[in-house]
Amino acid sequence: MNDKLIIVSTRLPVSVSKVDGKLRYESSAGGLSTAIDSLKKSADSVWVGWPGIASDDLTPKEKTEITTELQKRGCYPVFLNNNEINKFYSGYSNSTLWPLFHYFPKEAQYDSSYWDMYQDVNMQFARAALKFATANAKIWVHDYQLMLVPKMLRDINKDLTIGFFLHTPFPASEVFRLIPEREALLEGVLGASLIGFHTYDYVHYFLASTLKILGYENTLGTVRLDNRLVQTDAFPIGIDYKKYAKGSYNRKVSSIQRTFDLFRAKTQVILSVDRADYTKGIPERLDAFELFLDRHPDFLRRAVLVIVAVPSRGDVNAYKELRATIEQKVSRINGRFSTIDWSPITYRYQPLPFDELCALYARADVMLVTPLRDGMNLVAKEYVAARHSHNGVLILSDMAGAAIELTDALLVNPNNTSQVADAIYEGLTMRETDQRKRMRKMQARVSQYTIEKWAQDFVKELSDSVKKRDTNAKWLNQQQERVLLDDYKKSSRRLILLDYDGTLKNFADSPDADRSEPSIKLKKLLKTLTQDKQNKIIIISGRKRTTLHKYFRNKDIGLIAEHGGWVYDDGQWTKFNQNTSDWKKKVKPILKEFVARTPGAVLEEKDFSFAWHYRQVQPNLAYVRKEALKTKLRGALGTDDIGVYEGQKIIEVKSKRMNKGVAVAGLAAKNQWDFILAIGDDYTDEDMFLAMPTDAYTINVGTDHTNARYQIRSVDDVLELLRLLI
Ligand code: UDP
Repeated sequence: MNDKLIIVSTRLPVSVSKVDGKLRYESSAGGLSTAIDSLKKSADSVWVGWPGIASDDLTPKEKTEITTELQKRGCYPVFLNNNEINKFYSGYSNSTLWPLFHYFPKEAQYDSSYWDMYQDVNMQFARAALKFATANAKIWVHDYQLMLVPKMLRDINKDLTIGFFLHTPFPASEVFRLIPEREALLEGVLGASLIGFHTYDYVHYFLASTLKILGYENTLGTVRLDNRLVQTDAFPIGIDYKKYAKGSYNRKVSSIQRTFDLFRAKTQVILSVDRADYTKGIPERLDAFELFLDRHPDFLRRAVLVIVAVPSRGDVNAYKELRATIEQKVSRINGRFSTIDWSPITYRYQPLPFDELCALYARADVMLVTPLRDGMNLVAKEYVAARHSHNGVLILSDMAGAAIELTDALLVNPNNTSQVADAIYEGLTMRETDQRKRMRKMQARVSQYTIEKWAQDFVKELSDSVKKRDTNAKWLNQQQERVLLDDYKKSSRRLILLDYDGTLKNFADSPDADRSEPSIKLKKLLKTLTQDKQNKIIIISGRKRTTLHKYFRNKDIGLIAEHGGWVYDDGQWTKFNQNTSDWKKKVKPILKEFVARTPGAVLEEKDFSFAWHYRQVQPNLAYVRKEALKTKLRGALGTDDIGVYEGQKIIEVKSKRMNKGVAVAGLAAKNQWDFILAIGDDYTDEDMFLAMPTDAYTINVGTDHTNARYQIRSVDDVLELLRLLI
């Protein structure tokens, strides 16, 4: 059976409109739809998105008609009304996220009603995608408008295979953290198993934000969540190379080239094509062109600039202002340099038909692509593809993602007017042989990593990430769970060892006992388990004995505190045999110094150990400090029997002889149990797992490498398992 691929993007590749009361369907042959076509050989696909018409204008009958018609084209519509389009699309997507992701914080609008609608509409997309989510389906969510969809899907079905690709830049964490809803956006995207970006820089910025804002660490780009791994990677999007390579010399293009003066004249042509967006640097580009003319008046009448600005997002104010700015500049420059029969700038504020675009690419001696910030920039790649004569010069902003690949362009800083003006001159005067050398290298790159290759790569890595998820971990599956429950039922002398923090209770921000009290529900659950006289329940924790005693006053529950420092059984505490005063004296000043120098760090002194907690420390600082602290502590302790250990956001100093394994070894070895269950999440629990007989049920909570037989994803899953025992 073919796999199922569900594409989720704001816009469908089919646009619906109403002309004279009749519905009209128009396919847009965008890059993504070409890519998806190429995947159809190996997967049944469906595309979920908005069909481009406001639902206020549609009757229920028309909606049904649209749904049926789109279905024939492999699409499924999410209907949005004008209010939704306004607040979700023009609002949160294009007036909050877009400017911030492109480093224009001044343009960003913060409006809570935009955010409410963003969540609402994201949920509509998630629900629509779920209609097609069979067990073997891969769901691929696209772009900044739908950042919450992966988590929304995951919350409904935790086993789904979800990928997310961001088509814009991901900004540096200092910019990203300006967004009021930064946590929810990151958590939203992290619902995916694979997150793709255009460049490695964006990956890096995303990981830095994830660490700084959510405290999630990563290993080589794989983010560790409590119960899942999320892979991140760079996949630079390509273009439909053949389309532009062929497009530049078809019959229609030739006829365009014969018809217009521009194509016959000897003038050199500098071309600029973009959506009219403030990120594209069009006014700055005009300034650079003006400076070039000032510096090289001999190019008057010999070179023209053709500016194509495609109208975009006209309902957002910043875009209206931009149009006015561009037009003032064009008219000022033309006013300054034009003669009666010649103007330096040809300006067009309209979209171009494909053939005209190709004709212009083929005609342009210099292509001027100078966005102030751009996720990738496809125009640059299209120009390269369209140059079948292998000459032509690409001037490219190093703020565009494409600059990472197209290093043979003349790379410029778009804010450096003088440098751009010089590059225009260099481009117009570059020797043909140099032009060809550069162009051929760029063509080799762009023709290899095409849009089809990009999509295949992403989907393959998404499949691999799932395989890794399923084979790496020892997830307790349903069948194993059934056997466990069966064994539990059949047995009559059961030992159940349960770690506390991270196993029965999620971690709180601070080790403070008041923050981590067991809930009434948890207490009840444990009470019911203990009431069964065939069960011996022991809570085994690194916490102080006073804390555990406060949490569990039920004397039928056994307690092991401080990793074995104290043992409570039959109403009595016994303690570990060790004189701690000497070694504690040595390390305490060091630990205190590291608390003073590290905002957020907390020192906890227990009878037999110290714990230096860094859960609240800024992650990058925590990393540096904990490494330095470990080195310093080990140096001070020498070859003592005292060890320095690293646990869940904690550095611990304690006797090497005192651990959970030693604490339970004797108990487990007693031949009195016919069922043993041990659950824990931390490094200290690994000692416990190793001390258990091989037929014991040992379960680790999380995704780390473990000595336990099984793994379970979260505290909630542990509680569910205990409930099933009852
Ligand atoms: N384009 C278009 N109509 C035009 C001019 C350009 O559809 O009149 C296309 C162009 O060929 C390119 C896309 O618009 O494929 C622009 O993509 P790019 O990545 O350069 O910028 P974006 O608009 O996505 O920010």
